[in-house]
Amino acid sequence: MISRVALDAPARAPSGKTSAYAIGKQGGLLIDPATRHSELDELVAERVDHVAVTHHHPDHVGAVTAYAETWDLTVWALTGRGDAFAAATGVQPDRHFAPGETIPAAGGVEVLDTPGHAPEHVSFVVPEGIVTGDLAVSEGSVVVGAPEGDMRAYLTSLRRVHARDPDRLYPGHGPVIEDPRSTCARLIKHRLDREKRVLEAINAGEETPEAIVEAAYEKDVSDVYELARATVLAHLEKLAVEGEIRYDGDRAMPA
Ligand SMILES: [Zn+2]
Repeated sequence: MISRVALDAPARAPSGKTSAYAIGKQGGLLIDPATRHSELDELVAERVDHVAVTHHHPDHVGAVTAYAETWDLTVWALTGRGDAFAAATGVQPDRHFAPGETIPAAGGVEVLDTPGHAPEHVSFVVPEGIVTGDLAVSEGSVVVGAPEGDMRAYLTSLRRVHARDPDRLYPGHGPVIEDPRSTCARLIKHRLDREKRVLEAINAGEETPEAIVEAAYEKDVSDVYELARATVLAHLEKLAVEGEIRYDGDRAMPA
């Protein structure tokens, strides 16, 4: 059983809303409570004993402390990320999970490692599908920008979810995704198309991130320039690791 409540979230959320999920009929798991909400209060009171988040961004963690304290929930965090979790949420985790482990909530919820959008990003496997936070959206794309974002990890995460072939994806923003495989394929293609343009720009002699942004985006990105630049930097880091280019943090050159 999975219930979704779309909450008004801080400005960072692209849609202005973040979906929280309550998993299970009893002893359940609350995921990504951005704010308190009466509908979510009822779900938690009726059937939730645990709380976890997909990642630490403010639009996913805002009400973790409030729910944890009001209903005495067991607070879970990714192993090795407990301090960052506490800094983001204001509450110390009671227990830790590692990717691949199963949280003993709602009959067992497997944790899937899905970094990229954020280094600590995980997803949660439930009978109906996978709760994927900011890994995927039904339209458009998510932010994967340096220094926090990791493009190489992000693509690996999308492939991991694609390989699982779930029935549905339950994202942090926007509607439930009914065609997970084609959505993952679309998101992967979107990144590889951009990467191809980045590589072409470098092979054509562009060296600075600014010049590469100019060459790799067709449309005017002045409104979202910092985002475009951070995305290009994430592509440069990936291409350098893969030996496709040389990149010293300031300038990129053909390998
Ligand atoms: Zn996020």
